[in-house]
Amino acid sequence: MQKRISVVTPFYNESVAVGYYERAIASLIAQMHDYHFEIVCVDDGSSDDTLEQLIAIACRDPNYVVVELSRNFGKEPALTAGLDIASGDAVIPFDADLQDPPEIIPDMVKAWEAGAEVVLARRSDRATDSHVKRKTAEWFYQLHNKVSRTKIPENVGDFRLMDRRVVDALKQLPERQRFMKGLFAWVGFKTDVIEYVRQPRSAGKTKFSGWRLWNLALEGMTGFSTVPLRIWTYIGLFGALISVAFAVFIVVRTILFGVSTPGYASLLVAVTFLGSLQLISIGIIGEYIGRIYLETKQRPNYLIRHLYRKS
Ligand code: UDP
Ligand code: MG
Repeated sequence: MQKRISVVTPFYNESVAVGYYERAIASLIAQMHDYHFEIVCVDDGSSDDTLEQLIAIACRDPNYVVVELSRNFGKEPALTAGLDIASGDAVIPFDADLQDPPEIIPDMVKAWEAGAEVVLARRSDRATDSHVKRKTAEWFYQLHNKVSRTKIPENVGDFRLMDRRVVDALKQLPERQRFMKGLFAWVGFKTDVIEYVRQPRSAGKTKFSGWRLWNLALEGMTGFSTVPLRIWTYIGLFGALISVAFAVFIVVRTILFGVSTPGYASLLVAVTFLGSLQLISIGIIGEYIGRIYLETKQRPNYLIRHLYRKS
């Protein structure tokens, strides 16, 4: 029996990258003829002709399955949709822009055959990312791994190989707000690591602006840690101690030197400072309440309009 390997790729306005993708996949399949491949392409509500191109490929090639989502849901839900559809014994999430080199997939499969249930691909060099992106990513990993019990391995993206057992475990996680990196790390399993050099995009441009990345980071933090909520207790206690000390100081000073009118400025500073602390902490509580709200609605992560497959 040939083992099945599923490659899962989300596509969002990747019109110019589809051709490169198809060629890369074709050479991968040719190289690994001992395996049966299933290529799951999820069209995440593209507004260009990405979907038409993918359907055309699926019409020629029975290895392809094209999942059309009803609108743009974002990369994480699109990936979730693909993982739900994928039927392989091993599943590999893989970006459409070929930034993760398909050439290392044979090595990942080898490590899997040798017993690893998860084979991580770690970027040994992020030279293709801008300096700002690298630095902020580094800070994010440091901070995240300090405050949350689920440690995310640094410089590891979604590109990895997962055994069927791992995928089934992921599918059992009920949360709606899916921060995939965190979920991948949370399930655990026997893990192996392969190093690679991250490539520049084959074509097109990145869909992740600074703002989107910031939101993703926030999602990761609040999804896997309650430290941002608890920290305010301590900051509040600290503030209270200081104000008590200050009050004692004022009382003593009044007894010794009599009443003094100045102090207006320091009063205003104290009031505005504490006021803004309160606003920040309310914002953080709101962040978590927002999540509870979204989770309780139990809306599906994505909606499929149509599934295209040759046979
Ligand atoms: N993507 C998606 N939906 C989105 C944004 C991105 O399916 O709303 C896909 C995109 O087509 C690509 C992958 O997610 O296959 C990674 O996106 P991108 O290359 O823009 O991210 P970067 O590599 O810059 O982090
Ligand atoms: Mg990319």
